[in-house]
Amino acid sequence: MSELQSNWLDEAKALIGHEYGKVYAWDAVNQPMIRQWCEALGVDNPLYLDGETAQQRFGAHVAPPTMLQAWVLAGIKGLYPPGSATDNPYEVLQLIERHGYASVVAVNSEQEYFRYLKEGDRLSFTSMIESVSEEKTTGLGTGFFVTQLLSFYDQHDAKVGQMRFRLFKFRPASAKPAAEKPSRPMPGISDDNRFFWDGLKARKLLIQRCTACGTLRNPPGPACPACHSLLSDSIEASGRGRIYSYTVVHYPTLPGVPAANPVGLIELEEGVRLVAGLVGVAADAVRIGSEVSLEFLECANELTLPVFRPLGGAA
Ligand code: ZN
Repeated sequence: MSELQSNWLDEAKALIGHEYGKVYAWDAVNQPMIRQWCEALGVDNPLYLDGETAQQRFGAHVAPPTMLQAWVLAGIKGLYPPGSATDNPYEVLQLIERHGYASVVAVNSEQEYFRYLKEGDRLSFTSMIESVSEEKTTGLGTGFFVTQLLSFYDQHDAKVGQMRFRLFKFRPASAKPAAEKPSRPMPGISDDNRFFWDGLKARKLLIQRCTACGTLRNPPGPACPACHSLLSDSIEASGRGRIYSYTVVHYPTLPGVPAANPVGLIELEEGVRLVAGLVGVAADAVRIGSEVSLEFLECANELTLPVFRPLGGAA
């Protein structure tokens, strides 16, 4: 372990035991949600469904002891009810991620129940990081096991359950050093588009042209959308164009591809558009309308891809 790593890892470990929260549930434990949960998971235990059994034993409907987390999920917008704490329980994961361990996989989750949850219970929870492992290498890659402990309380602040959630935050094993040729997934190559990929290998970006009516088209296809002719040849693109639109791909992360990967919809000066990677520009500096020029990215697996470099200054 380098001295540099031990510094930020100490920072990560200093967050162990810090309590985050409280965060409140949007809704009280309720029978409609219990019924839907049982239906979705194929649970037909009358204790949860007919009401009478639970009334006799507990004086109220009870929820299956698997729903603990279901009661305190954030809404679709990721928001919790007013009064909930807004501190960030994931800062340790973000810290690890900033040091190059961008991938994550859930390892296991254990729940413990101290009593049945009853209709009308209004839950809240706190969380803390219970442990951060030393750096480990697994078949997936190298990184850190992080265990989060969530504690659940009822409306009287009595603890009703807890959950341990373990993650592996890692750098994928297959990630290659940047100096090597990158590897990219192979495209589907057919008789209709082979000329396009062969052209790239010869460092030419070819645009398909209908030999009946002259219409240019991309991506390559068997028939002309203008006149339906099946006859075509191609012309070589100048390589000049502009960014018509773009997106930034964050997930899934791919070995050898920047974590924030800008991809452009390039309008070539010949008039057709093409989806291609953008190079030489930070993801947050890409601008629609920027002029771009073509470059070729030679990949390790006998594949050459067109990529575009912004020339600076939006049109
Ligand atoms: Zn045509």
